[in-house]
Formats: sequence, C-alpha cells, structure tokens
Amino acid sequence: MARKSGAKPANERRPRPGSRVGPRLLDVYRRLYQAYGPQSWWPGETAFEMIVGAILTQSVAWTNVAKTIAALKAADLMSPAALRHCPTDRLAGLLRPCLYFNAKAVKVKAMVDHLARYDDDLERWFDQDVPSLRSELLSIHGVGEETADSIVLYAAGKPSFVIDAYTRRILKRLELAPSVDTYRAYQARFEDELPADVALFNEYHALLVRLGKNVCRTKPRCPACPLLGICPTGQQAAAS
Ligand code: SF4
Repeated sequence: MARKSGAKPANERRPRPGSRVGPRLLDVYRRLYQAYGPQSWWPGETAFEMIVGAILTQSVAWTNVAKTIAALKAADLMSPAALRHCPTDRLAGLLRPCLYFNAKAVKVKAMVDHLARYDDDLERWFDQDVPSLRSELLSIHGVGEETADSIVLYAAGKPSFVIDAYTRRILKRLELAPSVDTYRAYQARFEDELPADVALFNEYHALLVRLGKNVCRTKPRCPACPLLGICPTGQQAAAS
C-alpha cells in the first residue's frame, strides 16, 4: 500500500496566522469526516498500481478502472517491466473499459519508460521534494496536474493537495473559492491554509469526492448534506 499517515512533510509549510479560511476549511473537513468516516484511499495494493490507476481514471469511473486493473493483473502485466515489454496495441485492448484506451496505453507506456530511468525503483524516484517530483511528473506525457498530485499524495505519500471538479464546485458553493479560477489557486487555498499533513490531504480529497459525487452534485441535494449548516448556497436554497 501507499504510505499514508505519519509520512514526513516535504517542507515546512504552516497555515497562515490570523486567516479565517483555514479554520473554515478544517470545519468542513471535520463535518465531512464525522458524517462519512475514513474513505481508505487510494484503492490499490502497491504504489505502482496507484500510479497506473491515476492515469486510467482520467475521465472514467473507478469501477471501470478496477475492472481494467484486475485484467492487467490476470495477464501478469502489473509491473513496469511487463508493461514496458507489452505491445502498445495489446495494452490498448486491455484498457478498453477505461475510455480513450489508445491514448491511455501511450500514457502508461510513457510512465513506465520514465520509470526505467530509476531502474523501476519507486522509492528512489520518490526520494525528492514535492516541487521536484511534481515537476518531473508533469514532464511525462499524459500527466496533468490532477494526476501528478494524485501520484505525489497517494503513491509517494507526500503532501500535495489534489484538486478536481468536485472540489472547485464545493468551494464555490461554500464561498471559499479563491479569486482566481486556476488549479494552482485552488491548491494554494488548501496548502496555504492547512498544515502540510499527508493523512489530512489524503482523507480531505477523498471526502470531497464522496460529497461531490453523491450530494453536492450539479443539482445539489442540500437537505442531505453534512455541510448545510455552514453553506451559504444551501441555506439560500432552503430559504427560497
Ligand atoms: S449544502 Fe448544498 S450546495 Fe452546500 S455543499 Fe452541501 S450540497 Fe453543496
């Protein structure tokens, strides 16, 4: 499994003193955790499996990814060396449940080719600070910011907050969104305001995904939301 709680922070980030955003973000976290409990992310037996899953899950539900990972294991392909030697068209066929399977096969190949630089030793690759690791990940074909941060957080066990569409929507509705609508601005919202704690970042992102999928959907189900008491959008809806 990936390293979860207890991992050393990669830097000495501290919450901004006097900010009112940090306590509000922590309040959101506590309410979600109290309502839903631990989410036990990321599903995956090894750090490498998490890396493959982070690529495959782009634009597709996790159930499809789980089916595909099971097929890769059954074909004895869940290792960097095995995937490197697998012909791209055969790999694409196995990735068929994951949408854009031809493109994703090329992305997986790019990842395992990159890993060859480290002799497939993930511990050695991950033995660098967060900005360096993140930057290296972003240089690999097919790895965008959300995928890079998922790998840094869940596979490497280092504190990098993952931003996705659910997180943006929920923060906007809570009136906690940054003034600039960029990935990095949303990420800074969490990383500047919360302690750089791997277990907190891990659980917080998973809880936001759970809320965004099931409750704070495009059409929100506010009466069932554990954040209703602190959400201006939900309270306005209830009053109208
Ligand atoms: S109260 Fe409604 S709008 Fe606010 S976070 Fe919950 S579901 Fe979303």
